[in-house]
Amino acid sequence: MGGRRKFASASRPPSVWDVDHLRRELESIDVDWRHGEALLTYLAHHPEVTTWADVNWAALKRRVPQKLPAFLEDAFSVRSTRVASRHDSKDGTTTKVVVELRDGAEVEAVVMRHATLRSTRVTCCVSSQVGCAMACSFCATGTMGDRGDLSRGEIVEQVLIARSLEPSTRNVVFMGMGEPLNNYDSVVGACRLLLDSQYLALRAGRVTVSTVGVVERIRQLGEDEPRVGLALSLHAPDQAKREAIMPAARGHRIDRVLDAVDAHVALRLPLITKGPLIMVEYILLGGCNDSDADAEALGDLLEHRFAGRLMVNLIPYNPTPDLPYDRPTEGRARAFQAILTQRGLLCCVRVTMGSDVAGACGQLLKKKRGAVDIEDAAGGAPAARRRPARAVAAPRAASLSPPPSPSRARRERTAAALALVSVGFAVAAAATASMG
Ligand code: SF4
Repeated sequence: MGGRRKFASASRPPSVWDVDHLRRELESIDVDWRHGEALLTYLAHHPEVTTWADVNWAALKRRVPQKLPAFLEDAFSVRSTRVASRHDSKDGTTTKVVVELRDGAEVEAVVMRHATLRSTRVTCCVSSQVGCAMACSFCATGTMGDRGDLSRGEIVEQVLIARSLEPSTRNVVFMGMGEPLNNYDSVVGACRLLLDSQYLALRAGRVTVSTVGVVERIRQLGEDEPRVGLALSLHAPDQAKREAIMPAARGHRIDRVLDAVDAHVALRLPLITKGPLIMVEYILLGGCNDSDADAEALGDLLEHRFAGRLMVNLIPYNPTPDLPYDRPTEGRARAFQAILTQRGLLCCVRVTMGSDVAGACGQLLKKKRGAVDIEDAAGGAPAARRRPARAVAAPRAASLSPPPSPSRARRERTAAALALVSVGFAVAAAATASMG
């Protein structure tokens, strides 16, 4: 766990979902771990239970040792986090909650409801860190700096909060606050609890981790937990533009990032035989990275990557106060999409959700607190408020020409690929609706 959080002043014990800690503590009092498993199974199926007083010990699958309830009450919290505030969008599709951690730090989680022909699919977007070190120039969270990591239990509790609001929550995306691969152990540990059939029982592919490209962890994730989907936040078609938009890209060259994703895909190919394995996220910043030339360059970059098992998710920017970017027009987003589709790439433009509840990552907390930019705190120029990508933006004249129609073969290839999109990945793409 990150060292910047202040646990000395924590008002509650750690989460019972911090499973390694729970197991050690039970060992220390000679209680069989199977009692721990039975307790967690019960809690996973009763997300409405938030205190020890609410636990129906008789309903647990195993008879509980007499000393266990009192011990747990002292050492652990059933729910170490609290919902500090709840914000529902007017159309009812999005609920954003500000989650207070036990040391008083706050993060955001979002519940999104997607109507389908037969039902409503519910996705929970979780945070993995308080703030974020990556400082992407379009992101409200990036202006907060890195304030510490969430524990495995704090991540799982966000999903339990979502389940208490929407019992049918079946998809989880790590696209909230923080770079998940910078908090690797807690994130992978949480994913395992979410996927475990004893506990949250999400299906393989229904959990997606998004990264800006932490090279050394991308391949490792494929080795350690191939049931987890990967989303790559690319956001620019070349190294120079990427660095201008995302300062952290200086430490992770684009070719090395793509090679790492190729290695990740190679590991998962034998296990998952249909549908996209990688979602490429590309935030469209009006006038910065949304020209036809950018789309062509992105097509060049991706055309022969990831064994063809990718989907590009274009995300029209959700404007954030004080940040210097504009939303592209709908026509511009569709023209960008058409160029990629013409190249045979599976590509969708997300639908905006939750803008009336400050839907993008970190926006609500920044609005609430007037969060201090890390550059301001350091006394430097507020770089995040400049318009870094304009300087390297390609000329836009070409964007006025309509894209040529795709060839029949390409149209057919794209239609076939669309038919193969796995449900979980499609939902993950839609889920980015509230992300920045
Ligand atoms: S977009 Fe993601 S990685 Fe970038 S600063 Fe925001 S939270 Fe961090």
